[in-house]
Amino acid sequence: MSAEQATSGRHKVVVIGSGFGGLFGTKALRRTDVDVTMVAKTTHHLFQPLLYQVATGILSQGEIAPPTREILSNQKNAQVLLGEVSGIDLENRTVRSQVLGRETITPYDSLIVAAGASQSYFGNDHFAEFAPGMKSIDDALELRGRIFGAFEMAELGAARGENVDHLLTFVVVGAGPTGVEMAGQIAELAHRTLKKDFHHINTQKARVILADAAPQVLPPFGATLGGKAQREIEKLGVEVMLGAMVTNVDERGLEVKYKDGRVERVNSVTKIWAAGVQASPLGKLLAEQSGAPLDRAGRIGVNADLTLPGYPEVFVVGDMISLDNLPGVAQVAIQGAKYAAKEIDGRLKGKAPQKPFKYFDKGSMAIISRFRAVAMVGKFRLTGIIAWLMWLAVHLVYITGFKNRLTALLHWAVSFIGRGRSERTTTEQQIFARSALARLERGSHDLVSRPGEFDAELLRQQEGRRLELEAQAAEESRLTDAGERGVRVG
Ligand SMILES: Cc1cc2nc3c(=O)[nH]c(=O)nc-3n(C[C@H](O)[C@H](O)[C@H](O)COP(=O)(O)OP(=O)(O)OC[C@H]3O[C@@H](n4cnc5c(N)ncnc54)[C@H](O)[C@@H]3O)c2cc1C
Repeated sequence: MSAEQATSGRHKVVVIGSGFGGLFGTKALRRTDVDVTMVAKTTHHLFQPLLYQVATGILSQGEIAPPTREILSNQKNAQVLLGEVSGIDLENRTVRSQVLGRETITPYDSLIVAAGASQSYFGNDHFAEFAPGMKSIDDALELRGRIFGAFEMAELGAARGENVDHLLTFVVVGAGPTGVEMAGQIAELAHRTLKKDFHHINTQKARVILADAAPQVLPPFGATLGGKAQREIEKLGVEVMLGAMVTNVDERGLEVKYKDGRVERVNSVTKIWAAGVQASPLGKLLAEQSGAPLDRAGRIGVNADLTLPGYPEVFVVGDMISLDNLPGVAQVAIQGAKYAAKEIDGRLKGKAPQKPFKYFDKGSMAIISRFRAVAMVGKFRLTGIIAWLMWLAVHLVYITGFKNRLTALLHWAVSFIGRGRSERTTTEQQIFARSALARLERGSHDLVSRPGEFDAELLRQQEGRRLELEAQAAEESRLTDAGERGVRVG
């Protein structure tokens, strides 16, 4: 089933993605004589840099993921279309998207592709089942459930006299900014927030491990700042394991191999993957049609004006591109998207092309714990409370919406000045829904009727198959007493 988007006859711009590139590109087209359709697979704009605060109970998901429709509600020339893009036809200039079996074909005159990147497990995708990444709201809520759930399970086990060390060991893989921030927050949770909440466990004895194959923490920040960050995080009680390549991950732990060949097993139920990114598969799709090169992380090589080689009407921005070693950071996506929007507008007005895209580096920062951060701004290297205050100011400016800024500030006061966390709600579904959906043949598509197919007779027929799939999912996810996966039925 396919539906073609209605058109008004004006120049049509399609923007893929509602992240930093997608949102800022759409907003930059506000005062131009075009119709914009933003096609995105989620209904929200996600502020990824604060995902770890949702995962550790500081912020709510709504504060970092406001609805895109609401953000753009006053932009008359923009509409939002929910759907995952699965096809881009460069010759016929159309984008194909789907949601729950409903397909839409959207024609474009100009296209901005800003589909970002996902987690990379460096060819070991099976690690994902036991070590979720941190790229989406689903990931953050699942991690929140797993982290707080581990303390609950440890309390239960300790009350029965069992060894709960594996439940009180948390491993964060990847010592970049996300890994450092995540490890720091879990340490604060264990050593500060939760210390009075349990009777049978001492949460202050929890082990928080930050592991990375690299020889230093925060490699992009250089040796001096990286060293300072490592000392700070160790003061919080985080164990830093460097030169440690993760070679296997399973339900009860992981295995690391050091450069000297030594192999160590760490028993840990809660593992978090914060290492490596892989560009959206849409990059490959564009490369196949245009002949543009792809790098090892799946990023597509674009022209200096961010256009796809051979297709001047197609711009690719943000985490998906490989150009001049630009880093995968929000400002690259924002500035690239604004550049693309200006070029589209300029062409319609008959202006000369802009100079090649030049990224203006406004600096980088990573928060280590409350009142401690590291920042790199131009030649300046800042640490401690000054860097932390800068972090606070920058994040307040970039969080979308006044209400979200205000509530985030209140939640930060609760967590940083006090010891509370306002967002500790977790549910069983947060923890297990991802694996359960992955075991169905076509994920959530299997749980709803297709368009035009809703009739009682058909439902009765489908029910049998659905029950069969659910039984299979339940059986596959069951653990035997020996801690092994249950056998497949049927
Ligand atoms: C945990 C974490 C912490 C970070 N911290 C920082 C930081 O402190 N500072 C910093 O500068 N950067 C940080 N980054 C990086 C920054 O978030 C990215 O560089 C930035 O989001 C890239 O913007 P983008 O528009 O290219 O992609 P994204 O913001 O990822 O947006 C991609 C969009 O495309 C949508 N999409 C993807 N595939 C499809 C499809 N097939 N169909 C339809 N829609 C699709 C997604 O749903 C999303 O809306 C962090 C990233 C993460 C994950």
